[in-house]
Amino acid sequence: MNLTDHSPYPKASVIDEAPRPQMRMIAHHVWQLYNRFPANLFNVYLIEDVLVDAATRWDASSLLKQLTNIPLSQVALTHCHPDHQGAVKQICMTRGVPLACPEGDVASMEGHAPMVPGTVAIKIMQLGFAGPAYAVQRCLHDGDEIAGFRVIHTPGHTPGHVIHFRESDRVALVGDVLRNNHPITGKTGLYEPPDVFTLDREENRRSIRKLAQLRPALLCFGHGPVLYDMEQLDRFVARLPS
Ligand SMILES: [Zn+2]
Repeated sequence: MNLTDHSPYPKASVIDEAPRPQMRMIAHHVWQLYNRFPANLFNVYLIEDVLVDAATRWDASSLLKQLTNIPLSQVALTHCHPDHQGAVKQICMTRGVPLACPEGDVASMEGHAPMVPGTVAIKIMQLGFAGPAYAVQRCLHDGDEIAGFRVIHTPGHTPGHVIHFRESDRVALVGDVLRNNHPITGKTGLYEPPDVFTLDREENRRSIRKLAQLRPALLCFGHGPVLYDMEQLDRFVARLPS
């Protein structure tokens, strides 16, 4: 079932006409929401009428405000971590929209299993940022389609982690498979996700290579600014330990 087909809104014209004073347009029907923390710290995107990721529980009111009068059909997660699922419950309940979550992360999202890896770092992050558990209405699988993007399973950071890739213009929303800022200094640059937040570094490296093989033209990260220079990605992948 494709829930985007169940949007109560007529599609393209309403999507195009809705005012988005704080959002930044990145590509056709792809916007980055405003982030009140240092820019690009916890990124949230809107693709057509689907919100991809939901930052922390502290971001719920800011995100909801930005989404006022904006068509919204569902919230879709790249993975279940505190800085991506934080505002899910508030947004889904306030807007009356379903939650889509990668299959491998559903148990964590619904509170039936701990978030992974079960490190102290994740537990601290959970205390500081996580939102409440919430029921998943749509399990995302490799090959699913959301708002013109293909869901691609890229495990490693979490078991279910997915990226969203649009063939027509090769835009990729990459979640935390890799990031474009240093996790401590915030300095722009490509990095693997920190080990303390990553279940299986080797598997995540295979997912980074899978992403590079798609030959994306533009990367939108969970953390860090959008990257247009794909030579940087090629150099990064070439340097990755095998
Ligand atoms: Zn993250």
